[in-house]
Amino acid sequence: MISGAVNKYTYKLSKQYGVDNDLVLKYFYMMGKPGIHFIEWPTGSGKSLLISILAFLYPITASLRSYIFCRTYTQINEYLERLVRIAFSLDIYPKISVLVGKDLACPYGDIYNNEISYLFCKYLGNGIRCPDYRKMLNNKGAIRLEKIFSQTDKSRVEDIIEFFIDNGICPYYSLRRIGQESEIILSTYHYLLNGLLPRKDNIFKYCVFIDEGHNLVDHFIESNLIRFDKEALIRLSRVLEIDRTLLSENVFKNGIGVDSNLSKEYIILLLKKMKEKFIEHYVDSLIINDISLNSGSESDNPEKNTVVKLVNLDLDSIFHVVDEDEYIKIYLLPKFTFFRNFLNSSYSTIIASATLSPYKFFSRVLKSLGIKKKFRKYSEPYLYNSLSSAKINIYVSRYVTSRYVNRTPDSFYFISDFSIKITRKTGISTILFVPSLDIKEVMYSLIKESLLTGDLSDIGIFIDSNPSDIENFLNEEKPSILVMNQRGRYSEGINIFRTTNKAFNVVIYGLSIQPTDPLKDSLLSEFFGIKSNELFIYGYILPAMIYFVQSIGRIISRRAELNLYILEKRILKYLNSPVTPVWFRKLIKNSKISIVESI
Ligand code: SF4
Repeated sequence: MISGAVNKYTYKLSKQYGVDNDLVLKYFYMMGKPGIHFIEWPTGSGKSLLISILAFLYPITASLRSYIFCRTYTQINEYLERLVRIAFSLDIYPKISVLVGKDLACPYGDIYNNEISYLFCKYLGNGIRCPDYRKMLNNKGAIRLEKIFSQTDKSRVEDIIEFFIDNGICPYYSLRRIGQESEIILSTYHYLLNGLLPRKDNIFKYCVFIDEGHNLVDHFIESNLIRFDKEALIRLSRVLEIDRTLLSENVFKNGIGVDSNLSKEYIILLLKKMKEKFIEHYVDSLIINDISLNSGSESDNPEKNTVVKLVNLDLDSIFHVVDEDEYIKIYLLPKFTFFRNFLNSSYSTIIASATLSPYKFFSRVLKSLGIKKKFRKYSEPYLYNSLSSAKINIYVSRYVTSRYVNRTPDSFYFISDFSIKITRKTGISTILFVPSLDIKEVMYSLIKESLLTGDLSDIGIFIDSNPSDIENFLNEEKPSILVMNQRGRYSEGINIFRTTNKAFNVVIYGLSIQPTDPLKDSLLSEFFGIKSNELFIYGYILPAMIYFVQSIGRIISRRAELNLYILEKRILKYLNSPVTPVWFRKLIKNSKISIVESI
């Protein structure tokens, strides 16, 4: 590496972003060393900025290709915009590409809304007869993205796609083509987990950046169990025109026996048929955008969710099938061959998140997948001290719990009343996080009804089901309540509260702990070496604590004061334990904790 040039670049960027150049340089060299580097910093402390700077500078100073993997396109857009700003300010233009799915990049139809359009690319001869594809082939050399950025003054994925469409060139294959030669490639985890990166990868030495990396480990643990929604399978089978004798609706409706060999073989055959139909056309194009990788999380599009799961399903790794009322549960043996090889061949890998504790557990999971690298963790110093001035008042209730048996109408009324009273008493808006999608709907209806019947029109009520509702909540003048799901798509990854410095009350109802499952437990102990006395902590409490801390982390950042009400008696046991990130434990230590008696 050319240290003089590195210093010149980091100096300029550090000044531009108001961060310490020595610190940026230190991380530049530390993370440029071979190994897996974990960064566990709170939201707003500069993780994404550091990743952007390193991902930009490694290709131009050390001839390393950079791969950045995110959970959603919204996050990719944030990186893209920052990388373009860096390029213009340094006046250096490495080749950048974004890998996106056909459902976003093909101008000829939406596979999920139109029953036959999934065949479109195929009818056009896998692109050869598509006019846009031909125009792309006729284009001498790939279009450089910075040319698009300088022409359009925009740098979002949607702008790039629009540019190609306006010029009659296939965006999907163009971006893959550019990707082959690019020095910086951005994409979703889907491409990393399923080996869908453009060829010619081996000719480059590369660094891997995984943002919100806790999702991956959570995925490795949770993806052993996949739930297929039966109704969605039936609807999809109609679209796919699967043989009726194989896919009889009666079989689904009346059940096919629980846990028998016949059921297992039958279901595997059915899934295989469906997967083949999809894989023919979409294996390289499906995306995981709004859908969390976690199979237990919410989705407002069960078909899309099912297609993604189906295409990603490794049929050879199925070891158990259970037929339940609404779901077919598939248990898998973990494999992740591409992921393992890709990380083992990388020069260095940087995994960043606000929640990577306990570090030993996260590194153990990666080791058990066959990652043979040195592991290091960086808890501080941060680029921005986003929490230094935060004053957090924490109120914990020992009288409420979200245990399944306690999820009764009485407790829901209590939470509803509590949220309304807090909002009225403080005169500031409240964000209420609940542990599941179902409870979110219930709480929203209850609070809405209470406000109506109590003639409390001076308080607004919103739900996180769509982005415009969140936007309206942030812009609402009167104190309001926003109901959010801890496992929902907006509870992490997208810092929706960054645009405002408004004060909020945050009410957390319960921990999102999944029901225990003996089959999942046996997989966890067999493949990830989790001892029987650690199963509940790592298999259930840890994922719930990740959602809990991620939910709060979005809001805490850069806020002068925050009232945090934790309505869950089980929480006191875990707040100061290794499953809570170091920065959050420090925050708790410096905060005043009161026990909520009544409001
Ligand atoms: S070649 Fe490109 S533009 Fe043409 S149908 Fe396929 S994805 Fe769409």
